[in-house]
Amino acid sequence: MNCSHESKDLKPCTSERSVANLKYKFKTKRCGSCQAVLWSKEIDTDFHQWLTKQKKSFRNRFVLQKIQINQDLVSFAEELASSRCTNVSSVYQAALACYFVFAPKHEGWREVLDEAKAESTSPSTLISKLDVNPSMFLEIEANSKLFDMTNSAVASWAIGHVLQVALEAKTAIDQEVRNFVDAALAA
Ligand SMILES: [Zn+2]
Repeated sequence: MNCSHESKDLKPCTSERSVANLKYKFKTKRCGSCQAVLWSKEIDTDFHQWLTKQKKSFRNRFVLQKIQINQDLVSFAEELASSRCTNVSSVYQAALACYFVFAPKHEGWREVLDEAKAESTSPSTLISKLDVNPSMFLEIEANSKLFDMTNSAVASWAIGHVLQVALEAKTAIDQEVRNFVDAALAA
């Protein structure tokens, strides 16, 4: 629906947005014509500051649990981590950043990642806990709602597919995915 939210139609209101079962309450305006609750740049900045504070106070809320990845990919992630003298969680975090932050900015990347055959016959391993930053958590949660999946299932999908593409590195885009993950580990 195209509504220009004319200023004469705007009414002050309070609204809330929830992340990790934490509620962010904010004052804004509602458009009386289309009922949209307006979200401004200022609210967005305030929201992200609030998120950072929540991460400090409620660290355990931003942890993903029971992520499932097949054993070949776990071995590959461990290799990448050891070649960069870092821990394997960093590889998984880099894979999430690749899928949710980097890929959407590059045409065709999501398609390549989503089409990867990451559900192999090799047994899968459970990553019991993975700490993620609040903005990443927000992305994952938005996708869980959109696709009616759990946060862990969304994270398992994203990590598995990025690592599968990086492992095979068959095309130029695949190689760039691998370079992205590698560069994120070196940072
Ligand atoms: Zn409107």
